[in-house]
Amino acid sequence: MSSERINLMNLDRTGLETFFESIGEKRFRAHQLMKWIYHHGITDVGAMTDVGKKLRDKLETHSEIRPPTVKFQQVSTDGTAKWLVDISGGNAVETVYIPEPTRGTLCVSSQVGCALNCTFCSTATQGFNRNLSTSEVIGQVWLAAQALGHDAKTNRRLTNVVMMGMGEPLLNFDAVVPAMNLMRDDYAFGLANKRVTLSTAGLVPGIDRLSEACDVSLAVSLHAPNDELRNTLVPLNKKYPIAELLAACQRYLVTRPRASITFEYTLMKGINDKPEHARALVKLLRKMPSKLNLIPFNPFPGTRYERSDEATIRQFQAIVMEAGLIATVRRTRGDDIDAACGQLVGNVLDRTRRSAMARRDAEMHA
Ligand code: SAH
Repeated sequence: MSSERINLMNLDRTGLETFFESIGEKRFRAHQLMKWIYHHGITDVGAMTDVGKKLRDKLETHSEIRPPTVKFQQVSTDGTAKWLVDISGGNAVETVYIPEPTRGTLCVSSQVGCALNCTFCSTATQGFNRNLSTSEVIGQVWLAAQALGHDAKTNRRLTNVVMMGMGEPLLNFDAVVPAMNLMRDDYAFGLANKRVTLSTAGLVPGIDRLSEACDVSLAVSLHAPNDELRNTLVPLNKKYPIAELLAACQRYLVTRPRASITFEYTLMKGINDKPEHARALVKLLRKMPSKLNLIPFNPFPGTRYERSDEATIRQFQAIVMEAGLIATVRRTRGDDIDAACGQLVGNVLDRTRRSAMARRDAEMHA
């Protein structure tokens, strides 16, 4: 049965080397295989011409190479592309490609739905179904690379990956880290460390674990300059308040002296967009090597929040910049196809039968 065979896209380079050793083969076979899968987009072992017949047979007995499949693709008038990726059992997640003049960024999902219940995020309204596997995370990059005609050597359409799609990546640590290893591995997608970004709602122990495990850029969804307000927007803040979160960010930077943390701040009318919020934010971030990413709120059906006015957004940016912070306003892309931040909903079924672990996570962080 195929379900008993190991899907080789669930393994990063180290995992594949161990796999080949376990079937009595040399470790370099892992590198050959990775080049076929990730450089050439080949998943049929029969087409791997430098792999002998005996090994091909062995691989077909023990393993499979199975990326997820695309249910639906949409391209926005501004070139932003969105894929609905089939995750089996009627579930689907969303992956978004954002082309810009000097780079192409892929926004990748880590979970089917999300358990954190941030009040301004539409993914939260879908509930949580399950974690994605490594093959489903790296598979999103693989699918996009195929669709875009990306070639690591001649046509680098995909230069950056942000773990900013559906889900909280640090609550799916064990699958996300190998996937991020493949994104940065020269035998796979070969992206520079700093061009792979993990964004978190602020899971402090996860940040510390990530710091040890994986050298990627870190983004933190801050959205408020004080605990009282942040508790209402990001309920996880009750467990890991701002001071603890910022201390974890400082620890993350200790071993990365030239790096900085990106803080995401979604601007919601009358909620967190006043000059006093901007000034409080300056106080918080003054000593932190950081970039502030201001995101105009993207509305979705049923939300109680509204986007801040353009003038308010500019004023907010001006206050923090005059005080010396680096702040950019994230241009809304792909909103005609609901591909903007916080609009990714995918297709999350089976919400009521969460696995025991998911339920525990959800309760722990409520
Ligand atoms: N769970 C992770 C990854 C999601 S990243 C995290 O929270 O960081 C998606 C980013 O878009 C986060 O910063 C999130 O807070 C923000 N976001 C969510 N809903 C939004 C909305 N409706 N409008 C604008 N930004 C939103």
